[in-house]
Amino acid sequence: MKLSVAPAQRFAKMRAHTATHLLHAELARIFPDTKQAWSLVDSDLLRFDFYADRLLTQEEIAKVEKRVNQIIYMSCDVKIEEMKIEDAWKLWAKMFFEEKYWDVVRVVQVFNRELPEEMKQDDNEEYFSSRWEKLSIELCWGTHVSNTKDIWAFTIISQEAVASGIKRLTALTWPRVIEKINDYSWLLSNLTNLLEVKSYSQLPEKAQKLLKDYWELKSQVESLETKAINSFLESWEKKNNNDFDVIMKVPVDMNFKTLCNQAKTIFVDKNVLLATENWNFILFTKNGNSAKALAQKLGLKWWGNDQQIQGRDTNVVGLL
Ligand SMILES: [Zn+2]
Repeated sequence: MKLSVAPAQRFAKMRAHTATHLLHAELARIFPDTKQAWSLVDSDLLRFDFYADRLLTQEEIAKVEKRVNQIIYMSCDVKIEEMKIEDAWKLWAKMFFEEKYWDVVRVVQVFNRELPEEMKQDDNEEYFSSRWEKLSIELCWGTHVSNTKDIWAFTIISQEAVASGIKRLTALTWPRVIEKINDYSWLLSNLTNLLEVKSYSQLPEKAQKLLKDYWELKSQVESLETKAINSFLESWEKKNNNDFDVIMKVPVDMNFKTLCNQAKTIFVDKNVLLATENWNFILFTKNGNSAKALAQKLGLKWWGNDQQIQGRDTNVVGLL
């Protein structure tokens, strides 16, 4: 029986796998002591966990992306050969994990044919002078593209901290890069319509303005609400009731939490019952009176402390 792997899927994994090696090599430039902690290679998707004490900055991510794409455009050959472990050591291959390697290993190298001027003049010149011809070299038994141009495109889509000292990058290769760009384009154009701006570049400014308006309006509404509640509470009239000094039927649409807070500042040293027609109530008592005892006497279910209780009970309607 002959095993067959769908060629398209296999090629998609090869792109992601070679891109993983390129990503690893670029990360090693930022974190010289980093090691791979775990890696997942799927169809045009890769997830790479590595040891690092901090996350990459936005600029570093952009730089890594740019370099990997440059290596793709440079059409670098990927050379795979099996050799003795000692020979691999001489080639300076990365050894992963604490894994014990066989005597014969498979070395995957990415060769640079022609380095663009801008990369040569990079801040970390030493790196390229020492590894001028080999952009990446790893021991690996996976399948790879034979030239970096076959990866076509690479983008990092997320970064996260997955465990103590371990960071994770998730990245895509072609054609998922294009899918992602399409997703983002749709999202941006929807947001542009929704927030009524001419171009997506105006979105951050518009969002900031809307948020500012929102918080201003929210605070205005709260302040108006508090005023309305205060004037409602101040309109109380003494009723003929042996148990309460103040007893009020509260409109159901009134903010009950604000009402409770304001009532406590307005009605000092009084027995108070405030309730809505849908059975919410708050009951508090003056010094020396027990709120619990009063609620018990009136047959109200409650929770709270001895000075103030609240609850929801159908019986409260009969008391109003
Ligand atoms: Zn590999």
